[in-house]
Amino acid sequence: MTISYLCPLCDTSLSQQGKSYLCTQNHCFDIAKEGYVNLLPVQNKKTKDPGDNAFMIQARRQFLQEGYYQGFCDKIVSVAKEVQAQPSDISKHAVKAAAKNAKGKPTNAFNYAAASAYSLPYPDNVFDLAICIFSPAKPSEVMRVLKPGGVFIYAGTGPRHLRELAEMIYDIANEHKGNPLDFTDCSQFSAESIHTHNEAIKVERSNIPNLLAMTPYYWSASEDKKKAIESLEELTVELDFQIRRVEKLK
Ligand SMILES: [Zn+2]
Repeated sequence: MTISYLCPLCDTSLSQQGKSYLCTQNHCFDIAKEGYVNLLPVQNKKTKDPGDNAFMIQARRQFLQEGYYQGFCDKIVSVAKEVQAQPSDISKHAVKAAAKNAKGKPTNAFNYAAASAYSLPYPDNVFDLAICIFSPAKPSEVMRVLKPGGVFIYAGTGPRHLRELAEMIYDIANEHKGNPLDFTDCSQFSAESIHTHNEAIKVERSNIPNLLAMTPYYWSASEDKKKAIESLEELTVELDFQIRRVEKLK
């Protein structure tokens, strides 16, 4: 089943015509050469270039391609069942990278859009499964787009995630606060289960700068501390993830 995007300006269905999406009022959104559509109207952006910046995304991509988070991915798959994905991401750079990555791989049909997580460009009751990893989400919006009985997987960091890295940067390393979203207030909330994934990984020297650059620590660490971390031969860090599985009423 193809799910139509909704126009972010007038909320009517968009249909693809050539290399653009058009709504009934002729609002037009071009498909970029990387294969994604930007449904984020300029007036909705808080900055000219919202989301994670290109430097962080490049670091994250290189790090993740090494397979350090494979165990975490496997855990998400075991919590959710395999379905066709139609992800939205406010960061144009992240969507561009994802679209490029999937291009030419014929096993799945993917659609990529840069859009706001607070105003999803989809009709009501259309998804069996929605997944949000380390990103903001709005419970009422997620519930709106899920089918009755649909599942939402919301993954974030647990209290001990990358603790060794934090301890090298801060004198006092605070524990992460985890996922703060509350779905229990939503009228369509049915059930929630919480899963964790913990694992120690050994990061090789060549990948340590990428790990550092994809974390918020990069921006608060002094140059001296960054240099000290980047010159380590190997870094063993704890991964601590929390995966929440939320179900919508049938
Ligand atoms: Zn429109």
